[in-house]
Amino acid sequence: MPDVLVLVDHDGEHVHKTTYELLTAARRLGEPAAVVVGTPGTAARLEASLARHGARSVYAAESAEVDEFLGTPAVDALERAAGEASPAAVLVSATTDGKEVAGRLAARLDTGLLIDAVDVDSSRVVTQVVFGGSYTVRSQVTHGMPVITLRPGSFEAEECPVRAEVKELALPPAAPTSCARVTARRGAIAGDRPELTEAAVVVSGGRGVGGAEGFSVVEDLADALGGAVGASRAAVDAGYYPHQYQVGQTGKSVSPQLYIALGISGAIQHLAGMQTSRTIVAVNKDPEAPILDLADYGVVGDLFAVAPELTRQVAAR
Ligand code: FAD
Repeated sequence: MPDVLVLVDHDGEHVHKTTYELLTAARRLGEPAAVVVGTPGTAARLEASLARHGARSVYAAESAEVDEFLGTPAVDALERAAGEASPAAVLVSATTDGKEVAGRLAARLDTGLLIDAVDVDSSRVVTQVVFGGSYTVRSQVTHGMPVITLRPGSFEAEECPVRAEVKELALPPAAPTSCARVTARRGAIAGDRPELTEAAVVVSGGRGVGGAEGFSVVEDLADALGGAVGASRAAVDAGYYPHQYQVGQTGKSVSPQLYIALGISGAIQHLAGMQTSRTIVAVNKDPEAPILDLADYGVVGDLFAVAPELTRQVAAR
């Protein structure tokens, strides 16, 4: 079976859930081979978790300078791994960084790119939800080996313990090929909450929340459920919540087990980022709000009455 390269999302110590989803998807196409780009020692720390999820090979692309550059080291690593493994496909998470890496890799390898896939089958046909969720299309790369970005949450991560072989992958110096160098990193504001694209539960607030202070209602419910907080673009544009939490076509794509929309009307651009969530609950005072057509459970009511009551009920369990 051919290798299928998977770019590993990690924080240096732990593999992100999105990678386990990619490894599960990769098993449909061939033998999963994980590519770890990090500072020296990273692959050794992550190898056991990757092997538990089916990675038969772990490429260690390590260098002390990887954190100083944006996507370049990952593009370099995947290009070299593709040269060694002649893979059937390369899978990358459809995050902001992942899409940049995938696009640049496809250009370098002169091969086809399919972004935002929500499914992929054994003949490398992918399913995408396009035009803000209006259409579902099935696509296949016809030129070269496909580079595919897969939406977080599209696959249920499954364990498949194997023995992994670690292979060193020498990285070229990133400086000559990178146009941007990282000068500073700021910590996330999220505190103890899970990362939005990783969370099993997402509670999002929209313009109906009415202001930045109103978001405490959203945060309280998210915290009671151990979830992440999201926001609609209208809420972000109005300054209620920071942009990094925006869900939708021009924000992040999420696909949690449970998505709760508080005071969100359900514009197509918002739905584009969350409609693949397993269970959707919407609270809206307007019975005609389009989100209620999509929701599995809809509550017509004032979010400032419903959400605190929900929080109380969850906390009491
Ligand atoms: P509104 O549409 O104003 O809805 C507010 C809702 O709150 C209403 O349904 C109202 O009934 C309800 N409400 C009010 N008060 C209460 C209360 N007390 N209790 C309960 N319900 C209440 N949007 C995104 O979200 N993400 C994107 O990525 C995105 N990208 C876009 C890209 C483009 C190119 C364009 C053109 C638009 C994009 N938008 C995006 C914007 C999108 O079209 C909508 O304007 C936006 O999603 C609306 O946000 P909202 O639902 O919070 O606000």
